[in-house]
Amino acid sequence: MSYSRFGANSDTYIFEHNDGFIECCGCGLTEPTSGEDVGFAKLNTAREALEHAKKHLDVGDMVPDKVFTRIREEHPDLDAQIEPFLRSPEAAKVYEEWRRKFIDKYTITEERQDG
Ligand SMILES: [Zn+2]
Repeated sequence: MSYSRFGANSDTYIFEHNDGFIECCGCGLTEPTSGEDVGFAKLNTAREALEHAKKHLDVGDMVPDKVFTRIREEHPDLDAQIEPFLRSPEAAKVYEEWRRKFIDKYTITEERQDG
């Protein structure tokens, strides 16, 4: 379950990735890597994720309060490395396809807003 999604009250899409980090997807503060249209911040500990979310607030982005409360609740040890989820290869493939569709949808939405 995501900590936040893009919407009326959020400029961020932050969730716990199954590979063992918190991701800020479509991140305006992170340079896209080659082959990607948007940036992805990989945050390896809860503390990194909280500090990253704070940076979004500092530049005027909306970040729901629940991002901070839920990350703290789910990761009481702020400096512990976030553990990967255990998923079957089939479930991981379905998840990756879902993630790719989300990114495509987001990219198309952005282009519409620009035009
Ligand atoms: Zn970000």
